[in-house]
Amino acid sequence: MKIRNVRLYTGEEEYKRGALVTEGAYVKYAGPEEGAPEDPETVDGQGGILMSGLANSHTHAAMVLFRGVGSDLGLMDWLGRLMPAEDALTPEMVHDGTLLACGEMLKNGVTAFADMYRHMDAAFEAALESGIRANMNRGSSGRDGVDSHREWAKRWHGAGDGRIRVTMGLHAEYTSDEDTVRYAVETARELGLGMHLHLSETEGEVAGCVERHGVRPVEYFDRMGLFDGPVIAAHCVHINDEERAFLARKGVWMAHCPASNLKLGSGVFDLVGALDAGCRVCLGTDGASSNNGLDMYREMYLTALLPKGMRKDPTRPRAGECVNIATRHGCLAMGYEDVGLLRPGYRADWVLLKDDVGLMPGHDAAADIVYAAQGGMVRMTAVNGRVLYRDGEWADIDMERVKARCREHARTLGVL
Ligand SMILES: [Zn+2]
Repeated sequence: MKIRNVRLYTGEEEYKRGALVTEGAYVKYAGPEEGAPEDPETVDGQGGILMSGLANSHTHAAMVLFRGVGSDLGLMDWLGRLMPAEDALTPEMVHDGTLLACGEMLKNGVTAFADMYRHMDAAFEAALESGIRANMNRGSSGRDGVDSHREWAKRWHGAGDGRIRVTMGLHAEYTSDEDTVRYAVETARELGLGMHLHLSETEGEVAGCVERHGVRPVEYFDRMGLFDGPVIAAHCVHINDEERAFLARKGVWMAHCPASNLKLGSGVFDLVGALDAGCRVCLGTDGASSNNGLDMYREMYLTALLPKGMRKDPTRPRAGECVNIATRHGCLAMGYEDVGLLRPGYRADWVLLKDDVGLMPGHDAAADIVYAAQGGMVRMTAVNGRVLYRDGEWADIDMERVKARCREHARTLGVL
C-alpha cells in the first residue's frame, strides 16, 4: 500500500511532501514522494500529516464502561466508588468494554496499548478481534491473580502475529501484601515476562507505604527485586531525586499519565526532572473513568505544556521529544522492538490525520501534532500494515452493536 501526498513525520524526520509505502506488515519506504516506489493500492493523503501510531502505555481499557462515574473525587474515594462496581463485571462486559475502548483508541490514532484489568481472557479476545496491538495483564492483588498469568503466557503471548503480549500485572503496593509481590516477581522471571504496576501515584500512597513497611514504595519493591527485569511503572508522581536516579539506572519505563493525575488531584509528574535524570518515559491515558477519554493527542498536549508552565521554561520539553514519548518509547516499553518509527523494516503502524483547517498551513509537523492535533482529526489508522479505521468505519469492529451492548451493560451495572 502507498499513501502519497502527505506531510510525513517519521519520528526522526519531516518530509513536507512525503509518501509511505508498506509491504505486508512492514514499512518498505518512508521519505519524499518523489522517488517513492509505485504500488497498485495507492491512497491520496490530501496533504494531511502521516505519523507513527500512538502507544497508550497505561490504561484499563474496559473502564470505558464507567466513564463519568466517580467524577470529581480523589484517588482513594474514586477507587472506593469504582471497585465495588467492578466486582459486578462479567467476562462478557469486559469483552465488550475492551472492544469499545479499542475502537475509541483506533479512532484516536492509538495503535498499541498496555492494559491492566480483570477477566483478561475476555479482554485478550477483544484486543485480538479489533486488530490493535496490546500488552495485557491483570492488576493482581493476590496469588490467584499472579497465577492466572501462567495460562495467559502460554495461550496469548505472541498471538496475532506478535500483536498480543502478556506482562505480569501487580496493581499496587497498597492493594497487595509482601508475599504477593515476591510471588509476582518470581513468577514473572519464571515465565520471562515484564512487569506493570502503579507506583507512587499519590502522597498518601507513599506515606501509607512508609507506615506499613518503614520504607517508600521504590525501596519496598526493590527489596523484592521487582526492578531487576523490564518494568512499566505508571505515574511515578511522588518520587524523590534518589529514587529517580535509581529508576533511571534500572531502565524502568515510567508511564506518565498527566490527565488522570490532574483529574484525581494526585499531582504532576516532573517530566523534565525525570528526563534530566536519564529516566525512560512513555505516556498513557489511564482508564477512561479518570481521564475521561482515550485521546493521546490530549496527553501529548499536557505533556508538553505542564513542565513549561510549572518550571517557567518554555524551551522544554520540545515537541519532537513529546511525539517520541507518545510513540516509539511506548512501543519499547511494551516490548515491541520494531514498532514506533516509520523506517523501512519497521512494522507499519501508522496514522493519517485529515488536512484539517486546524493543522494549516504546515510549518512544523511535530509542533502541529503536539500543540494543534486532536483525536477527532484522525482519518485512517493502521496496524501491521492493515487499515483498521477509516473515515468513521472500523474494519473489524461492529461499533453500533458494541455500543448497544455497552449501554446495556452500564444499565445492568447500575451506573446508567
Ligand atoms: Zn491506572
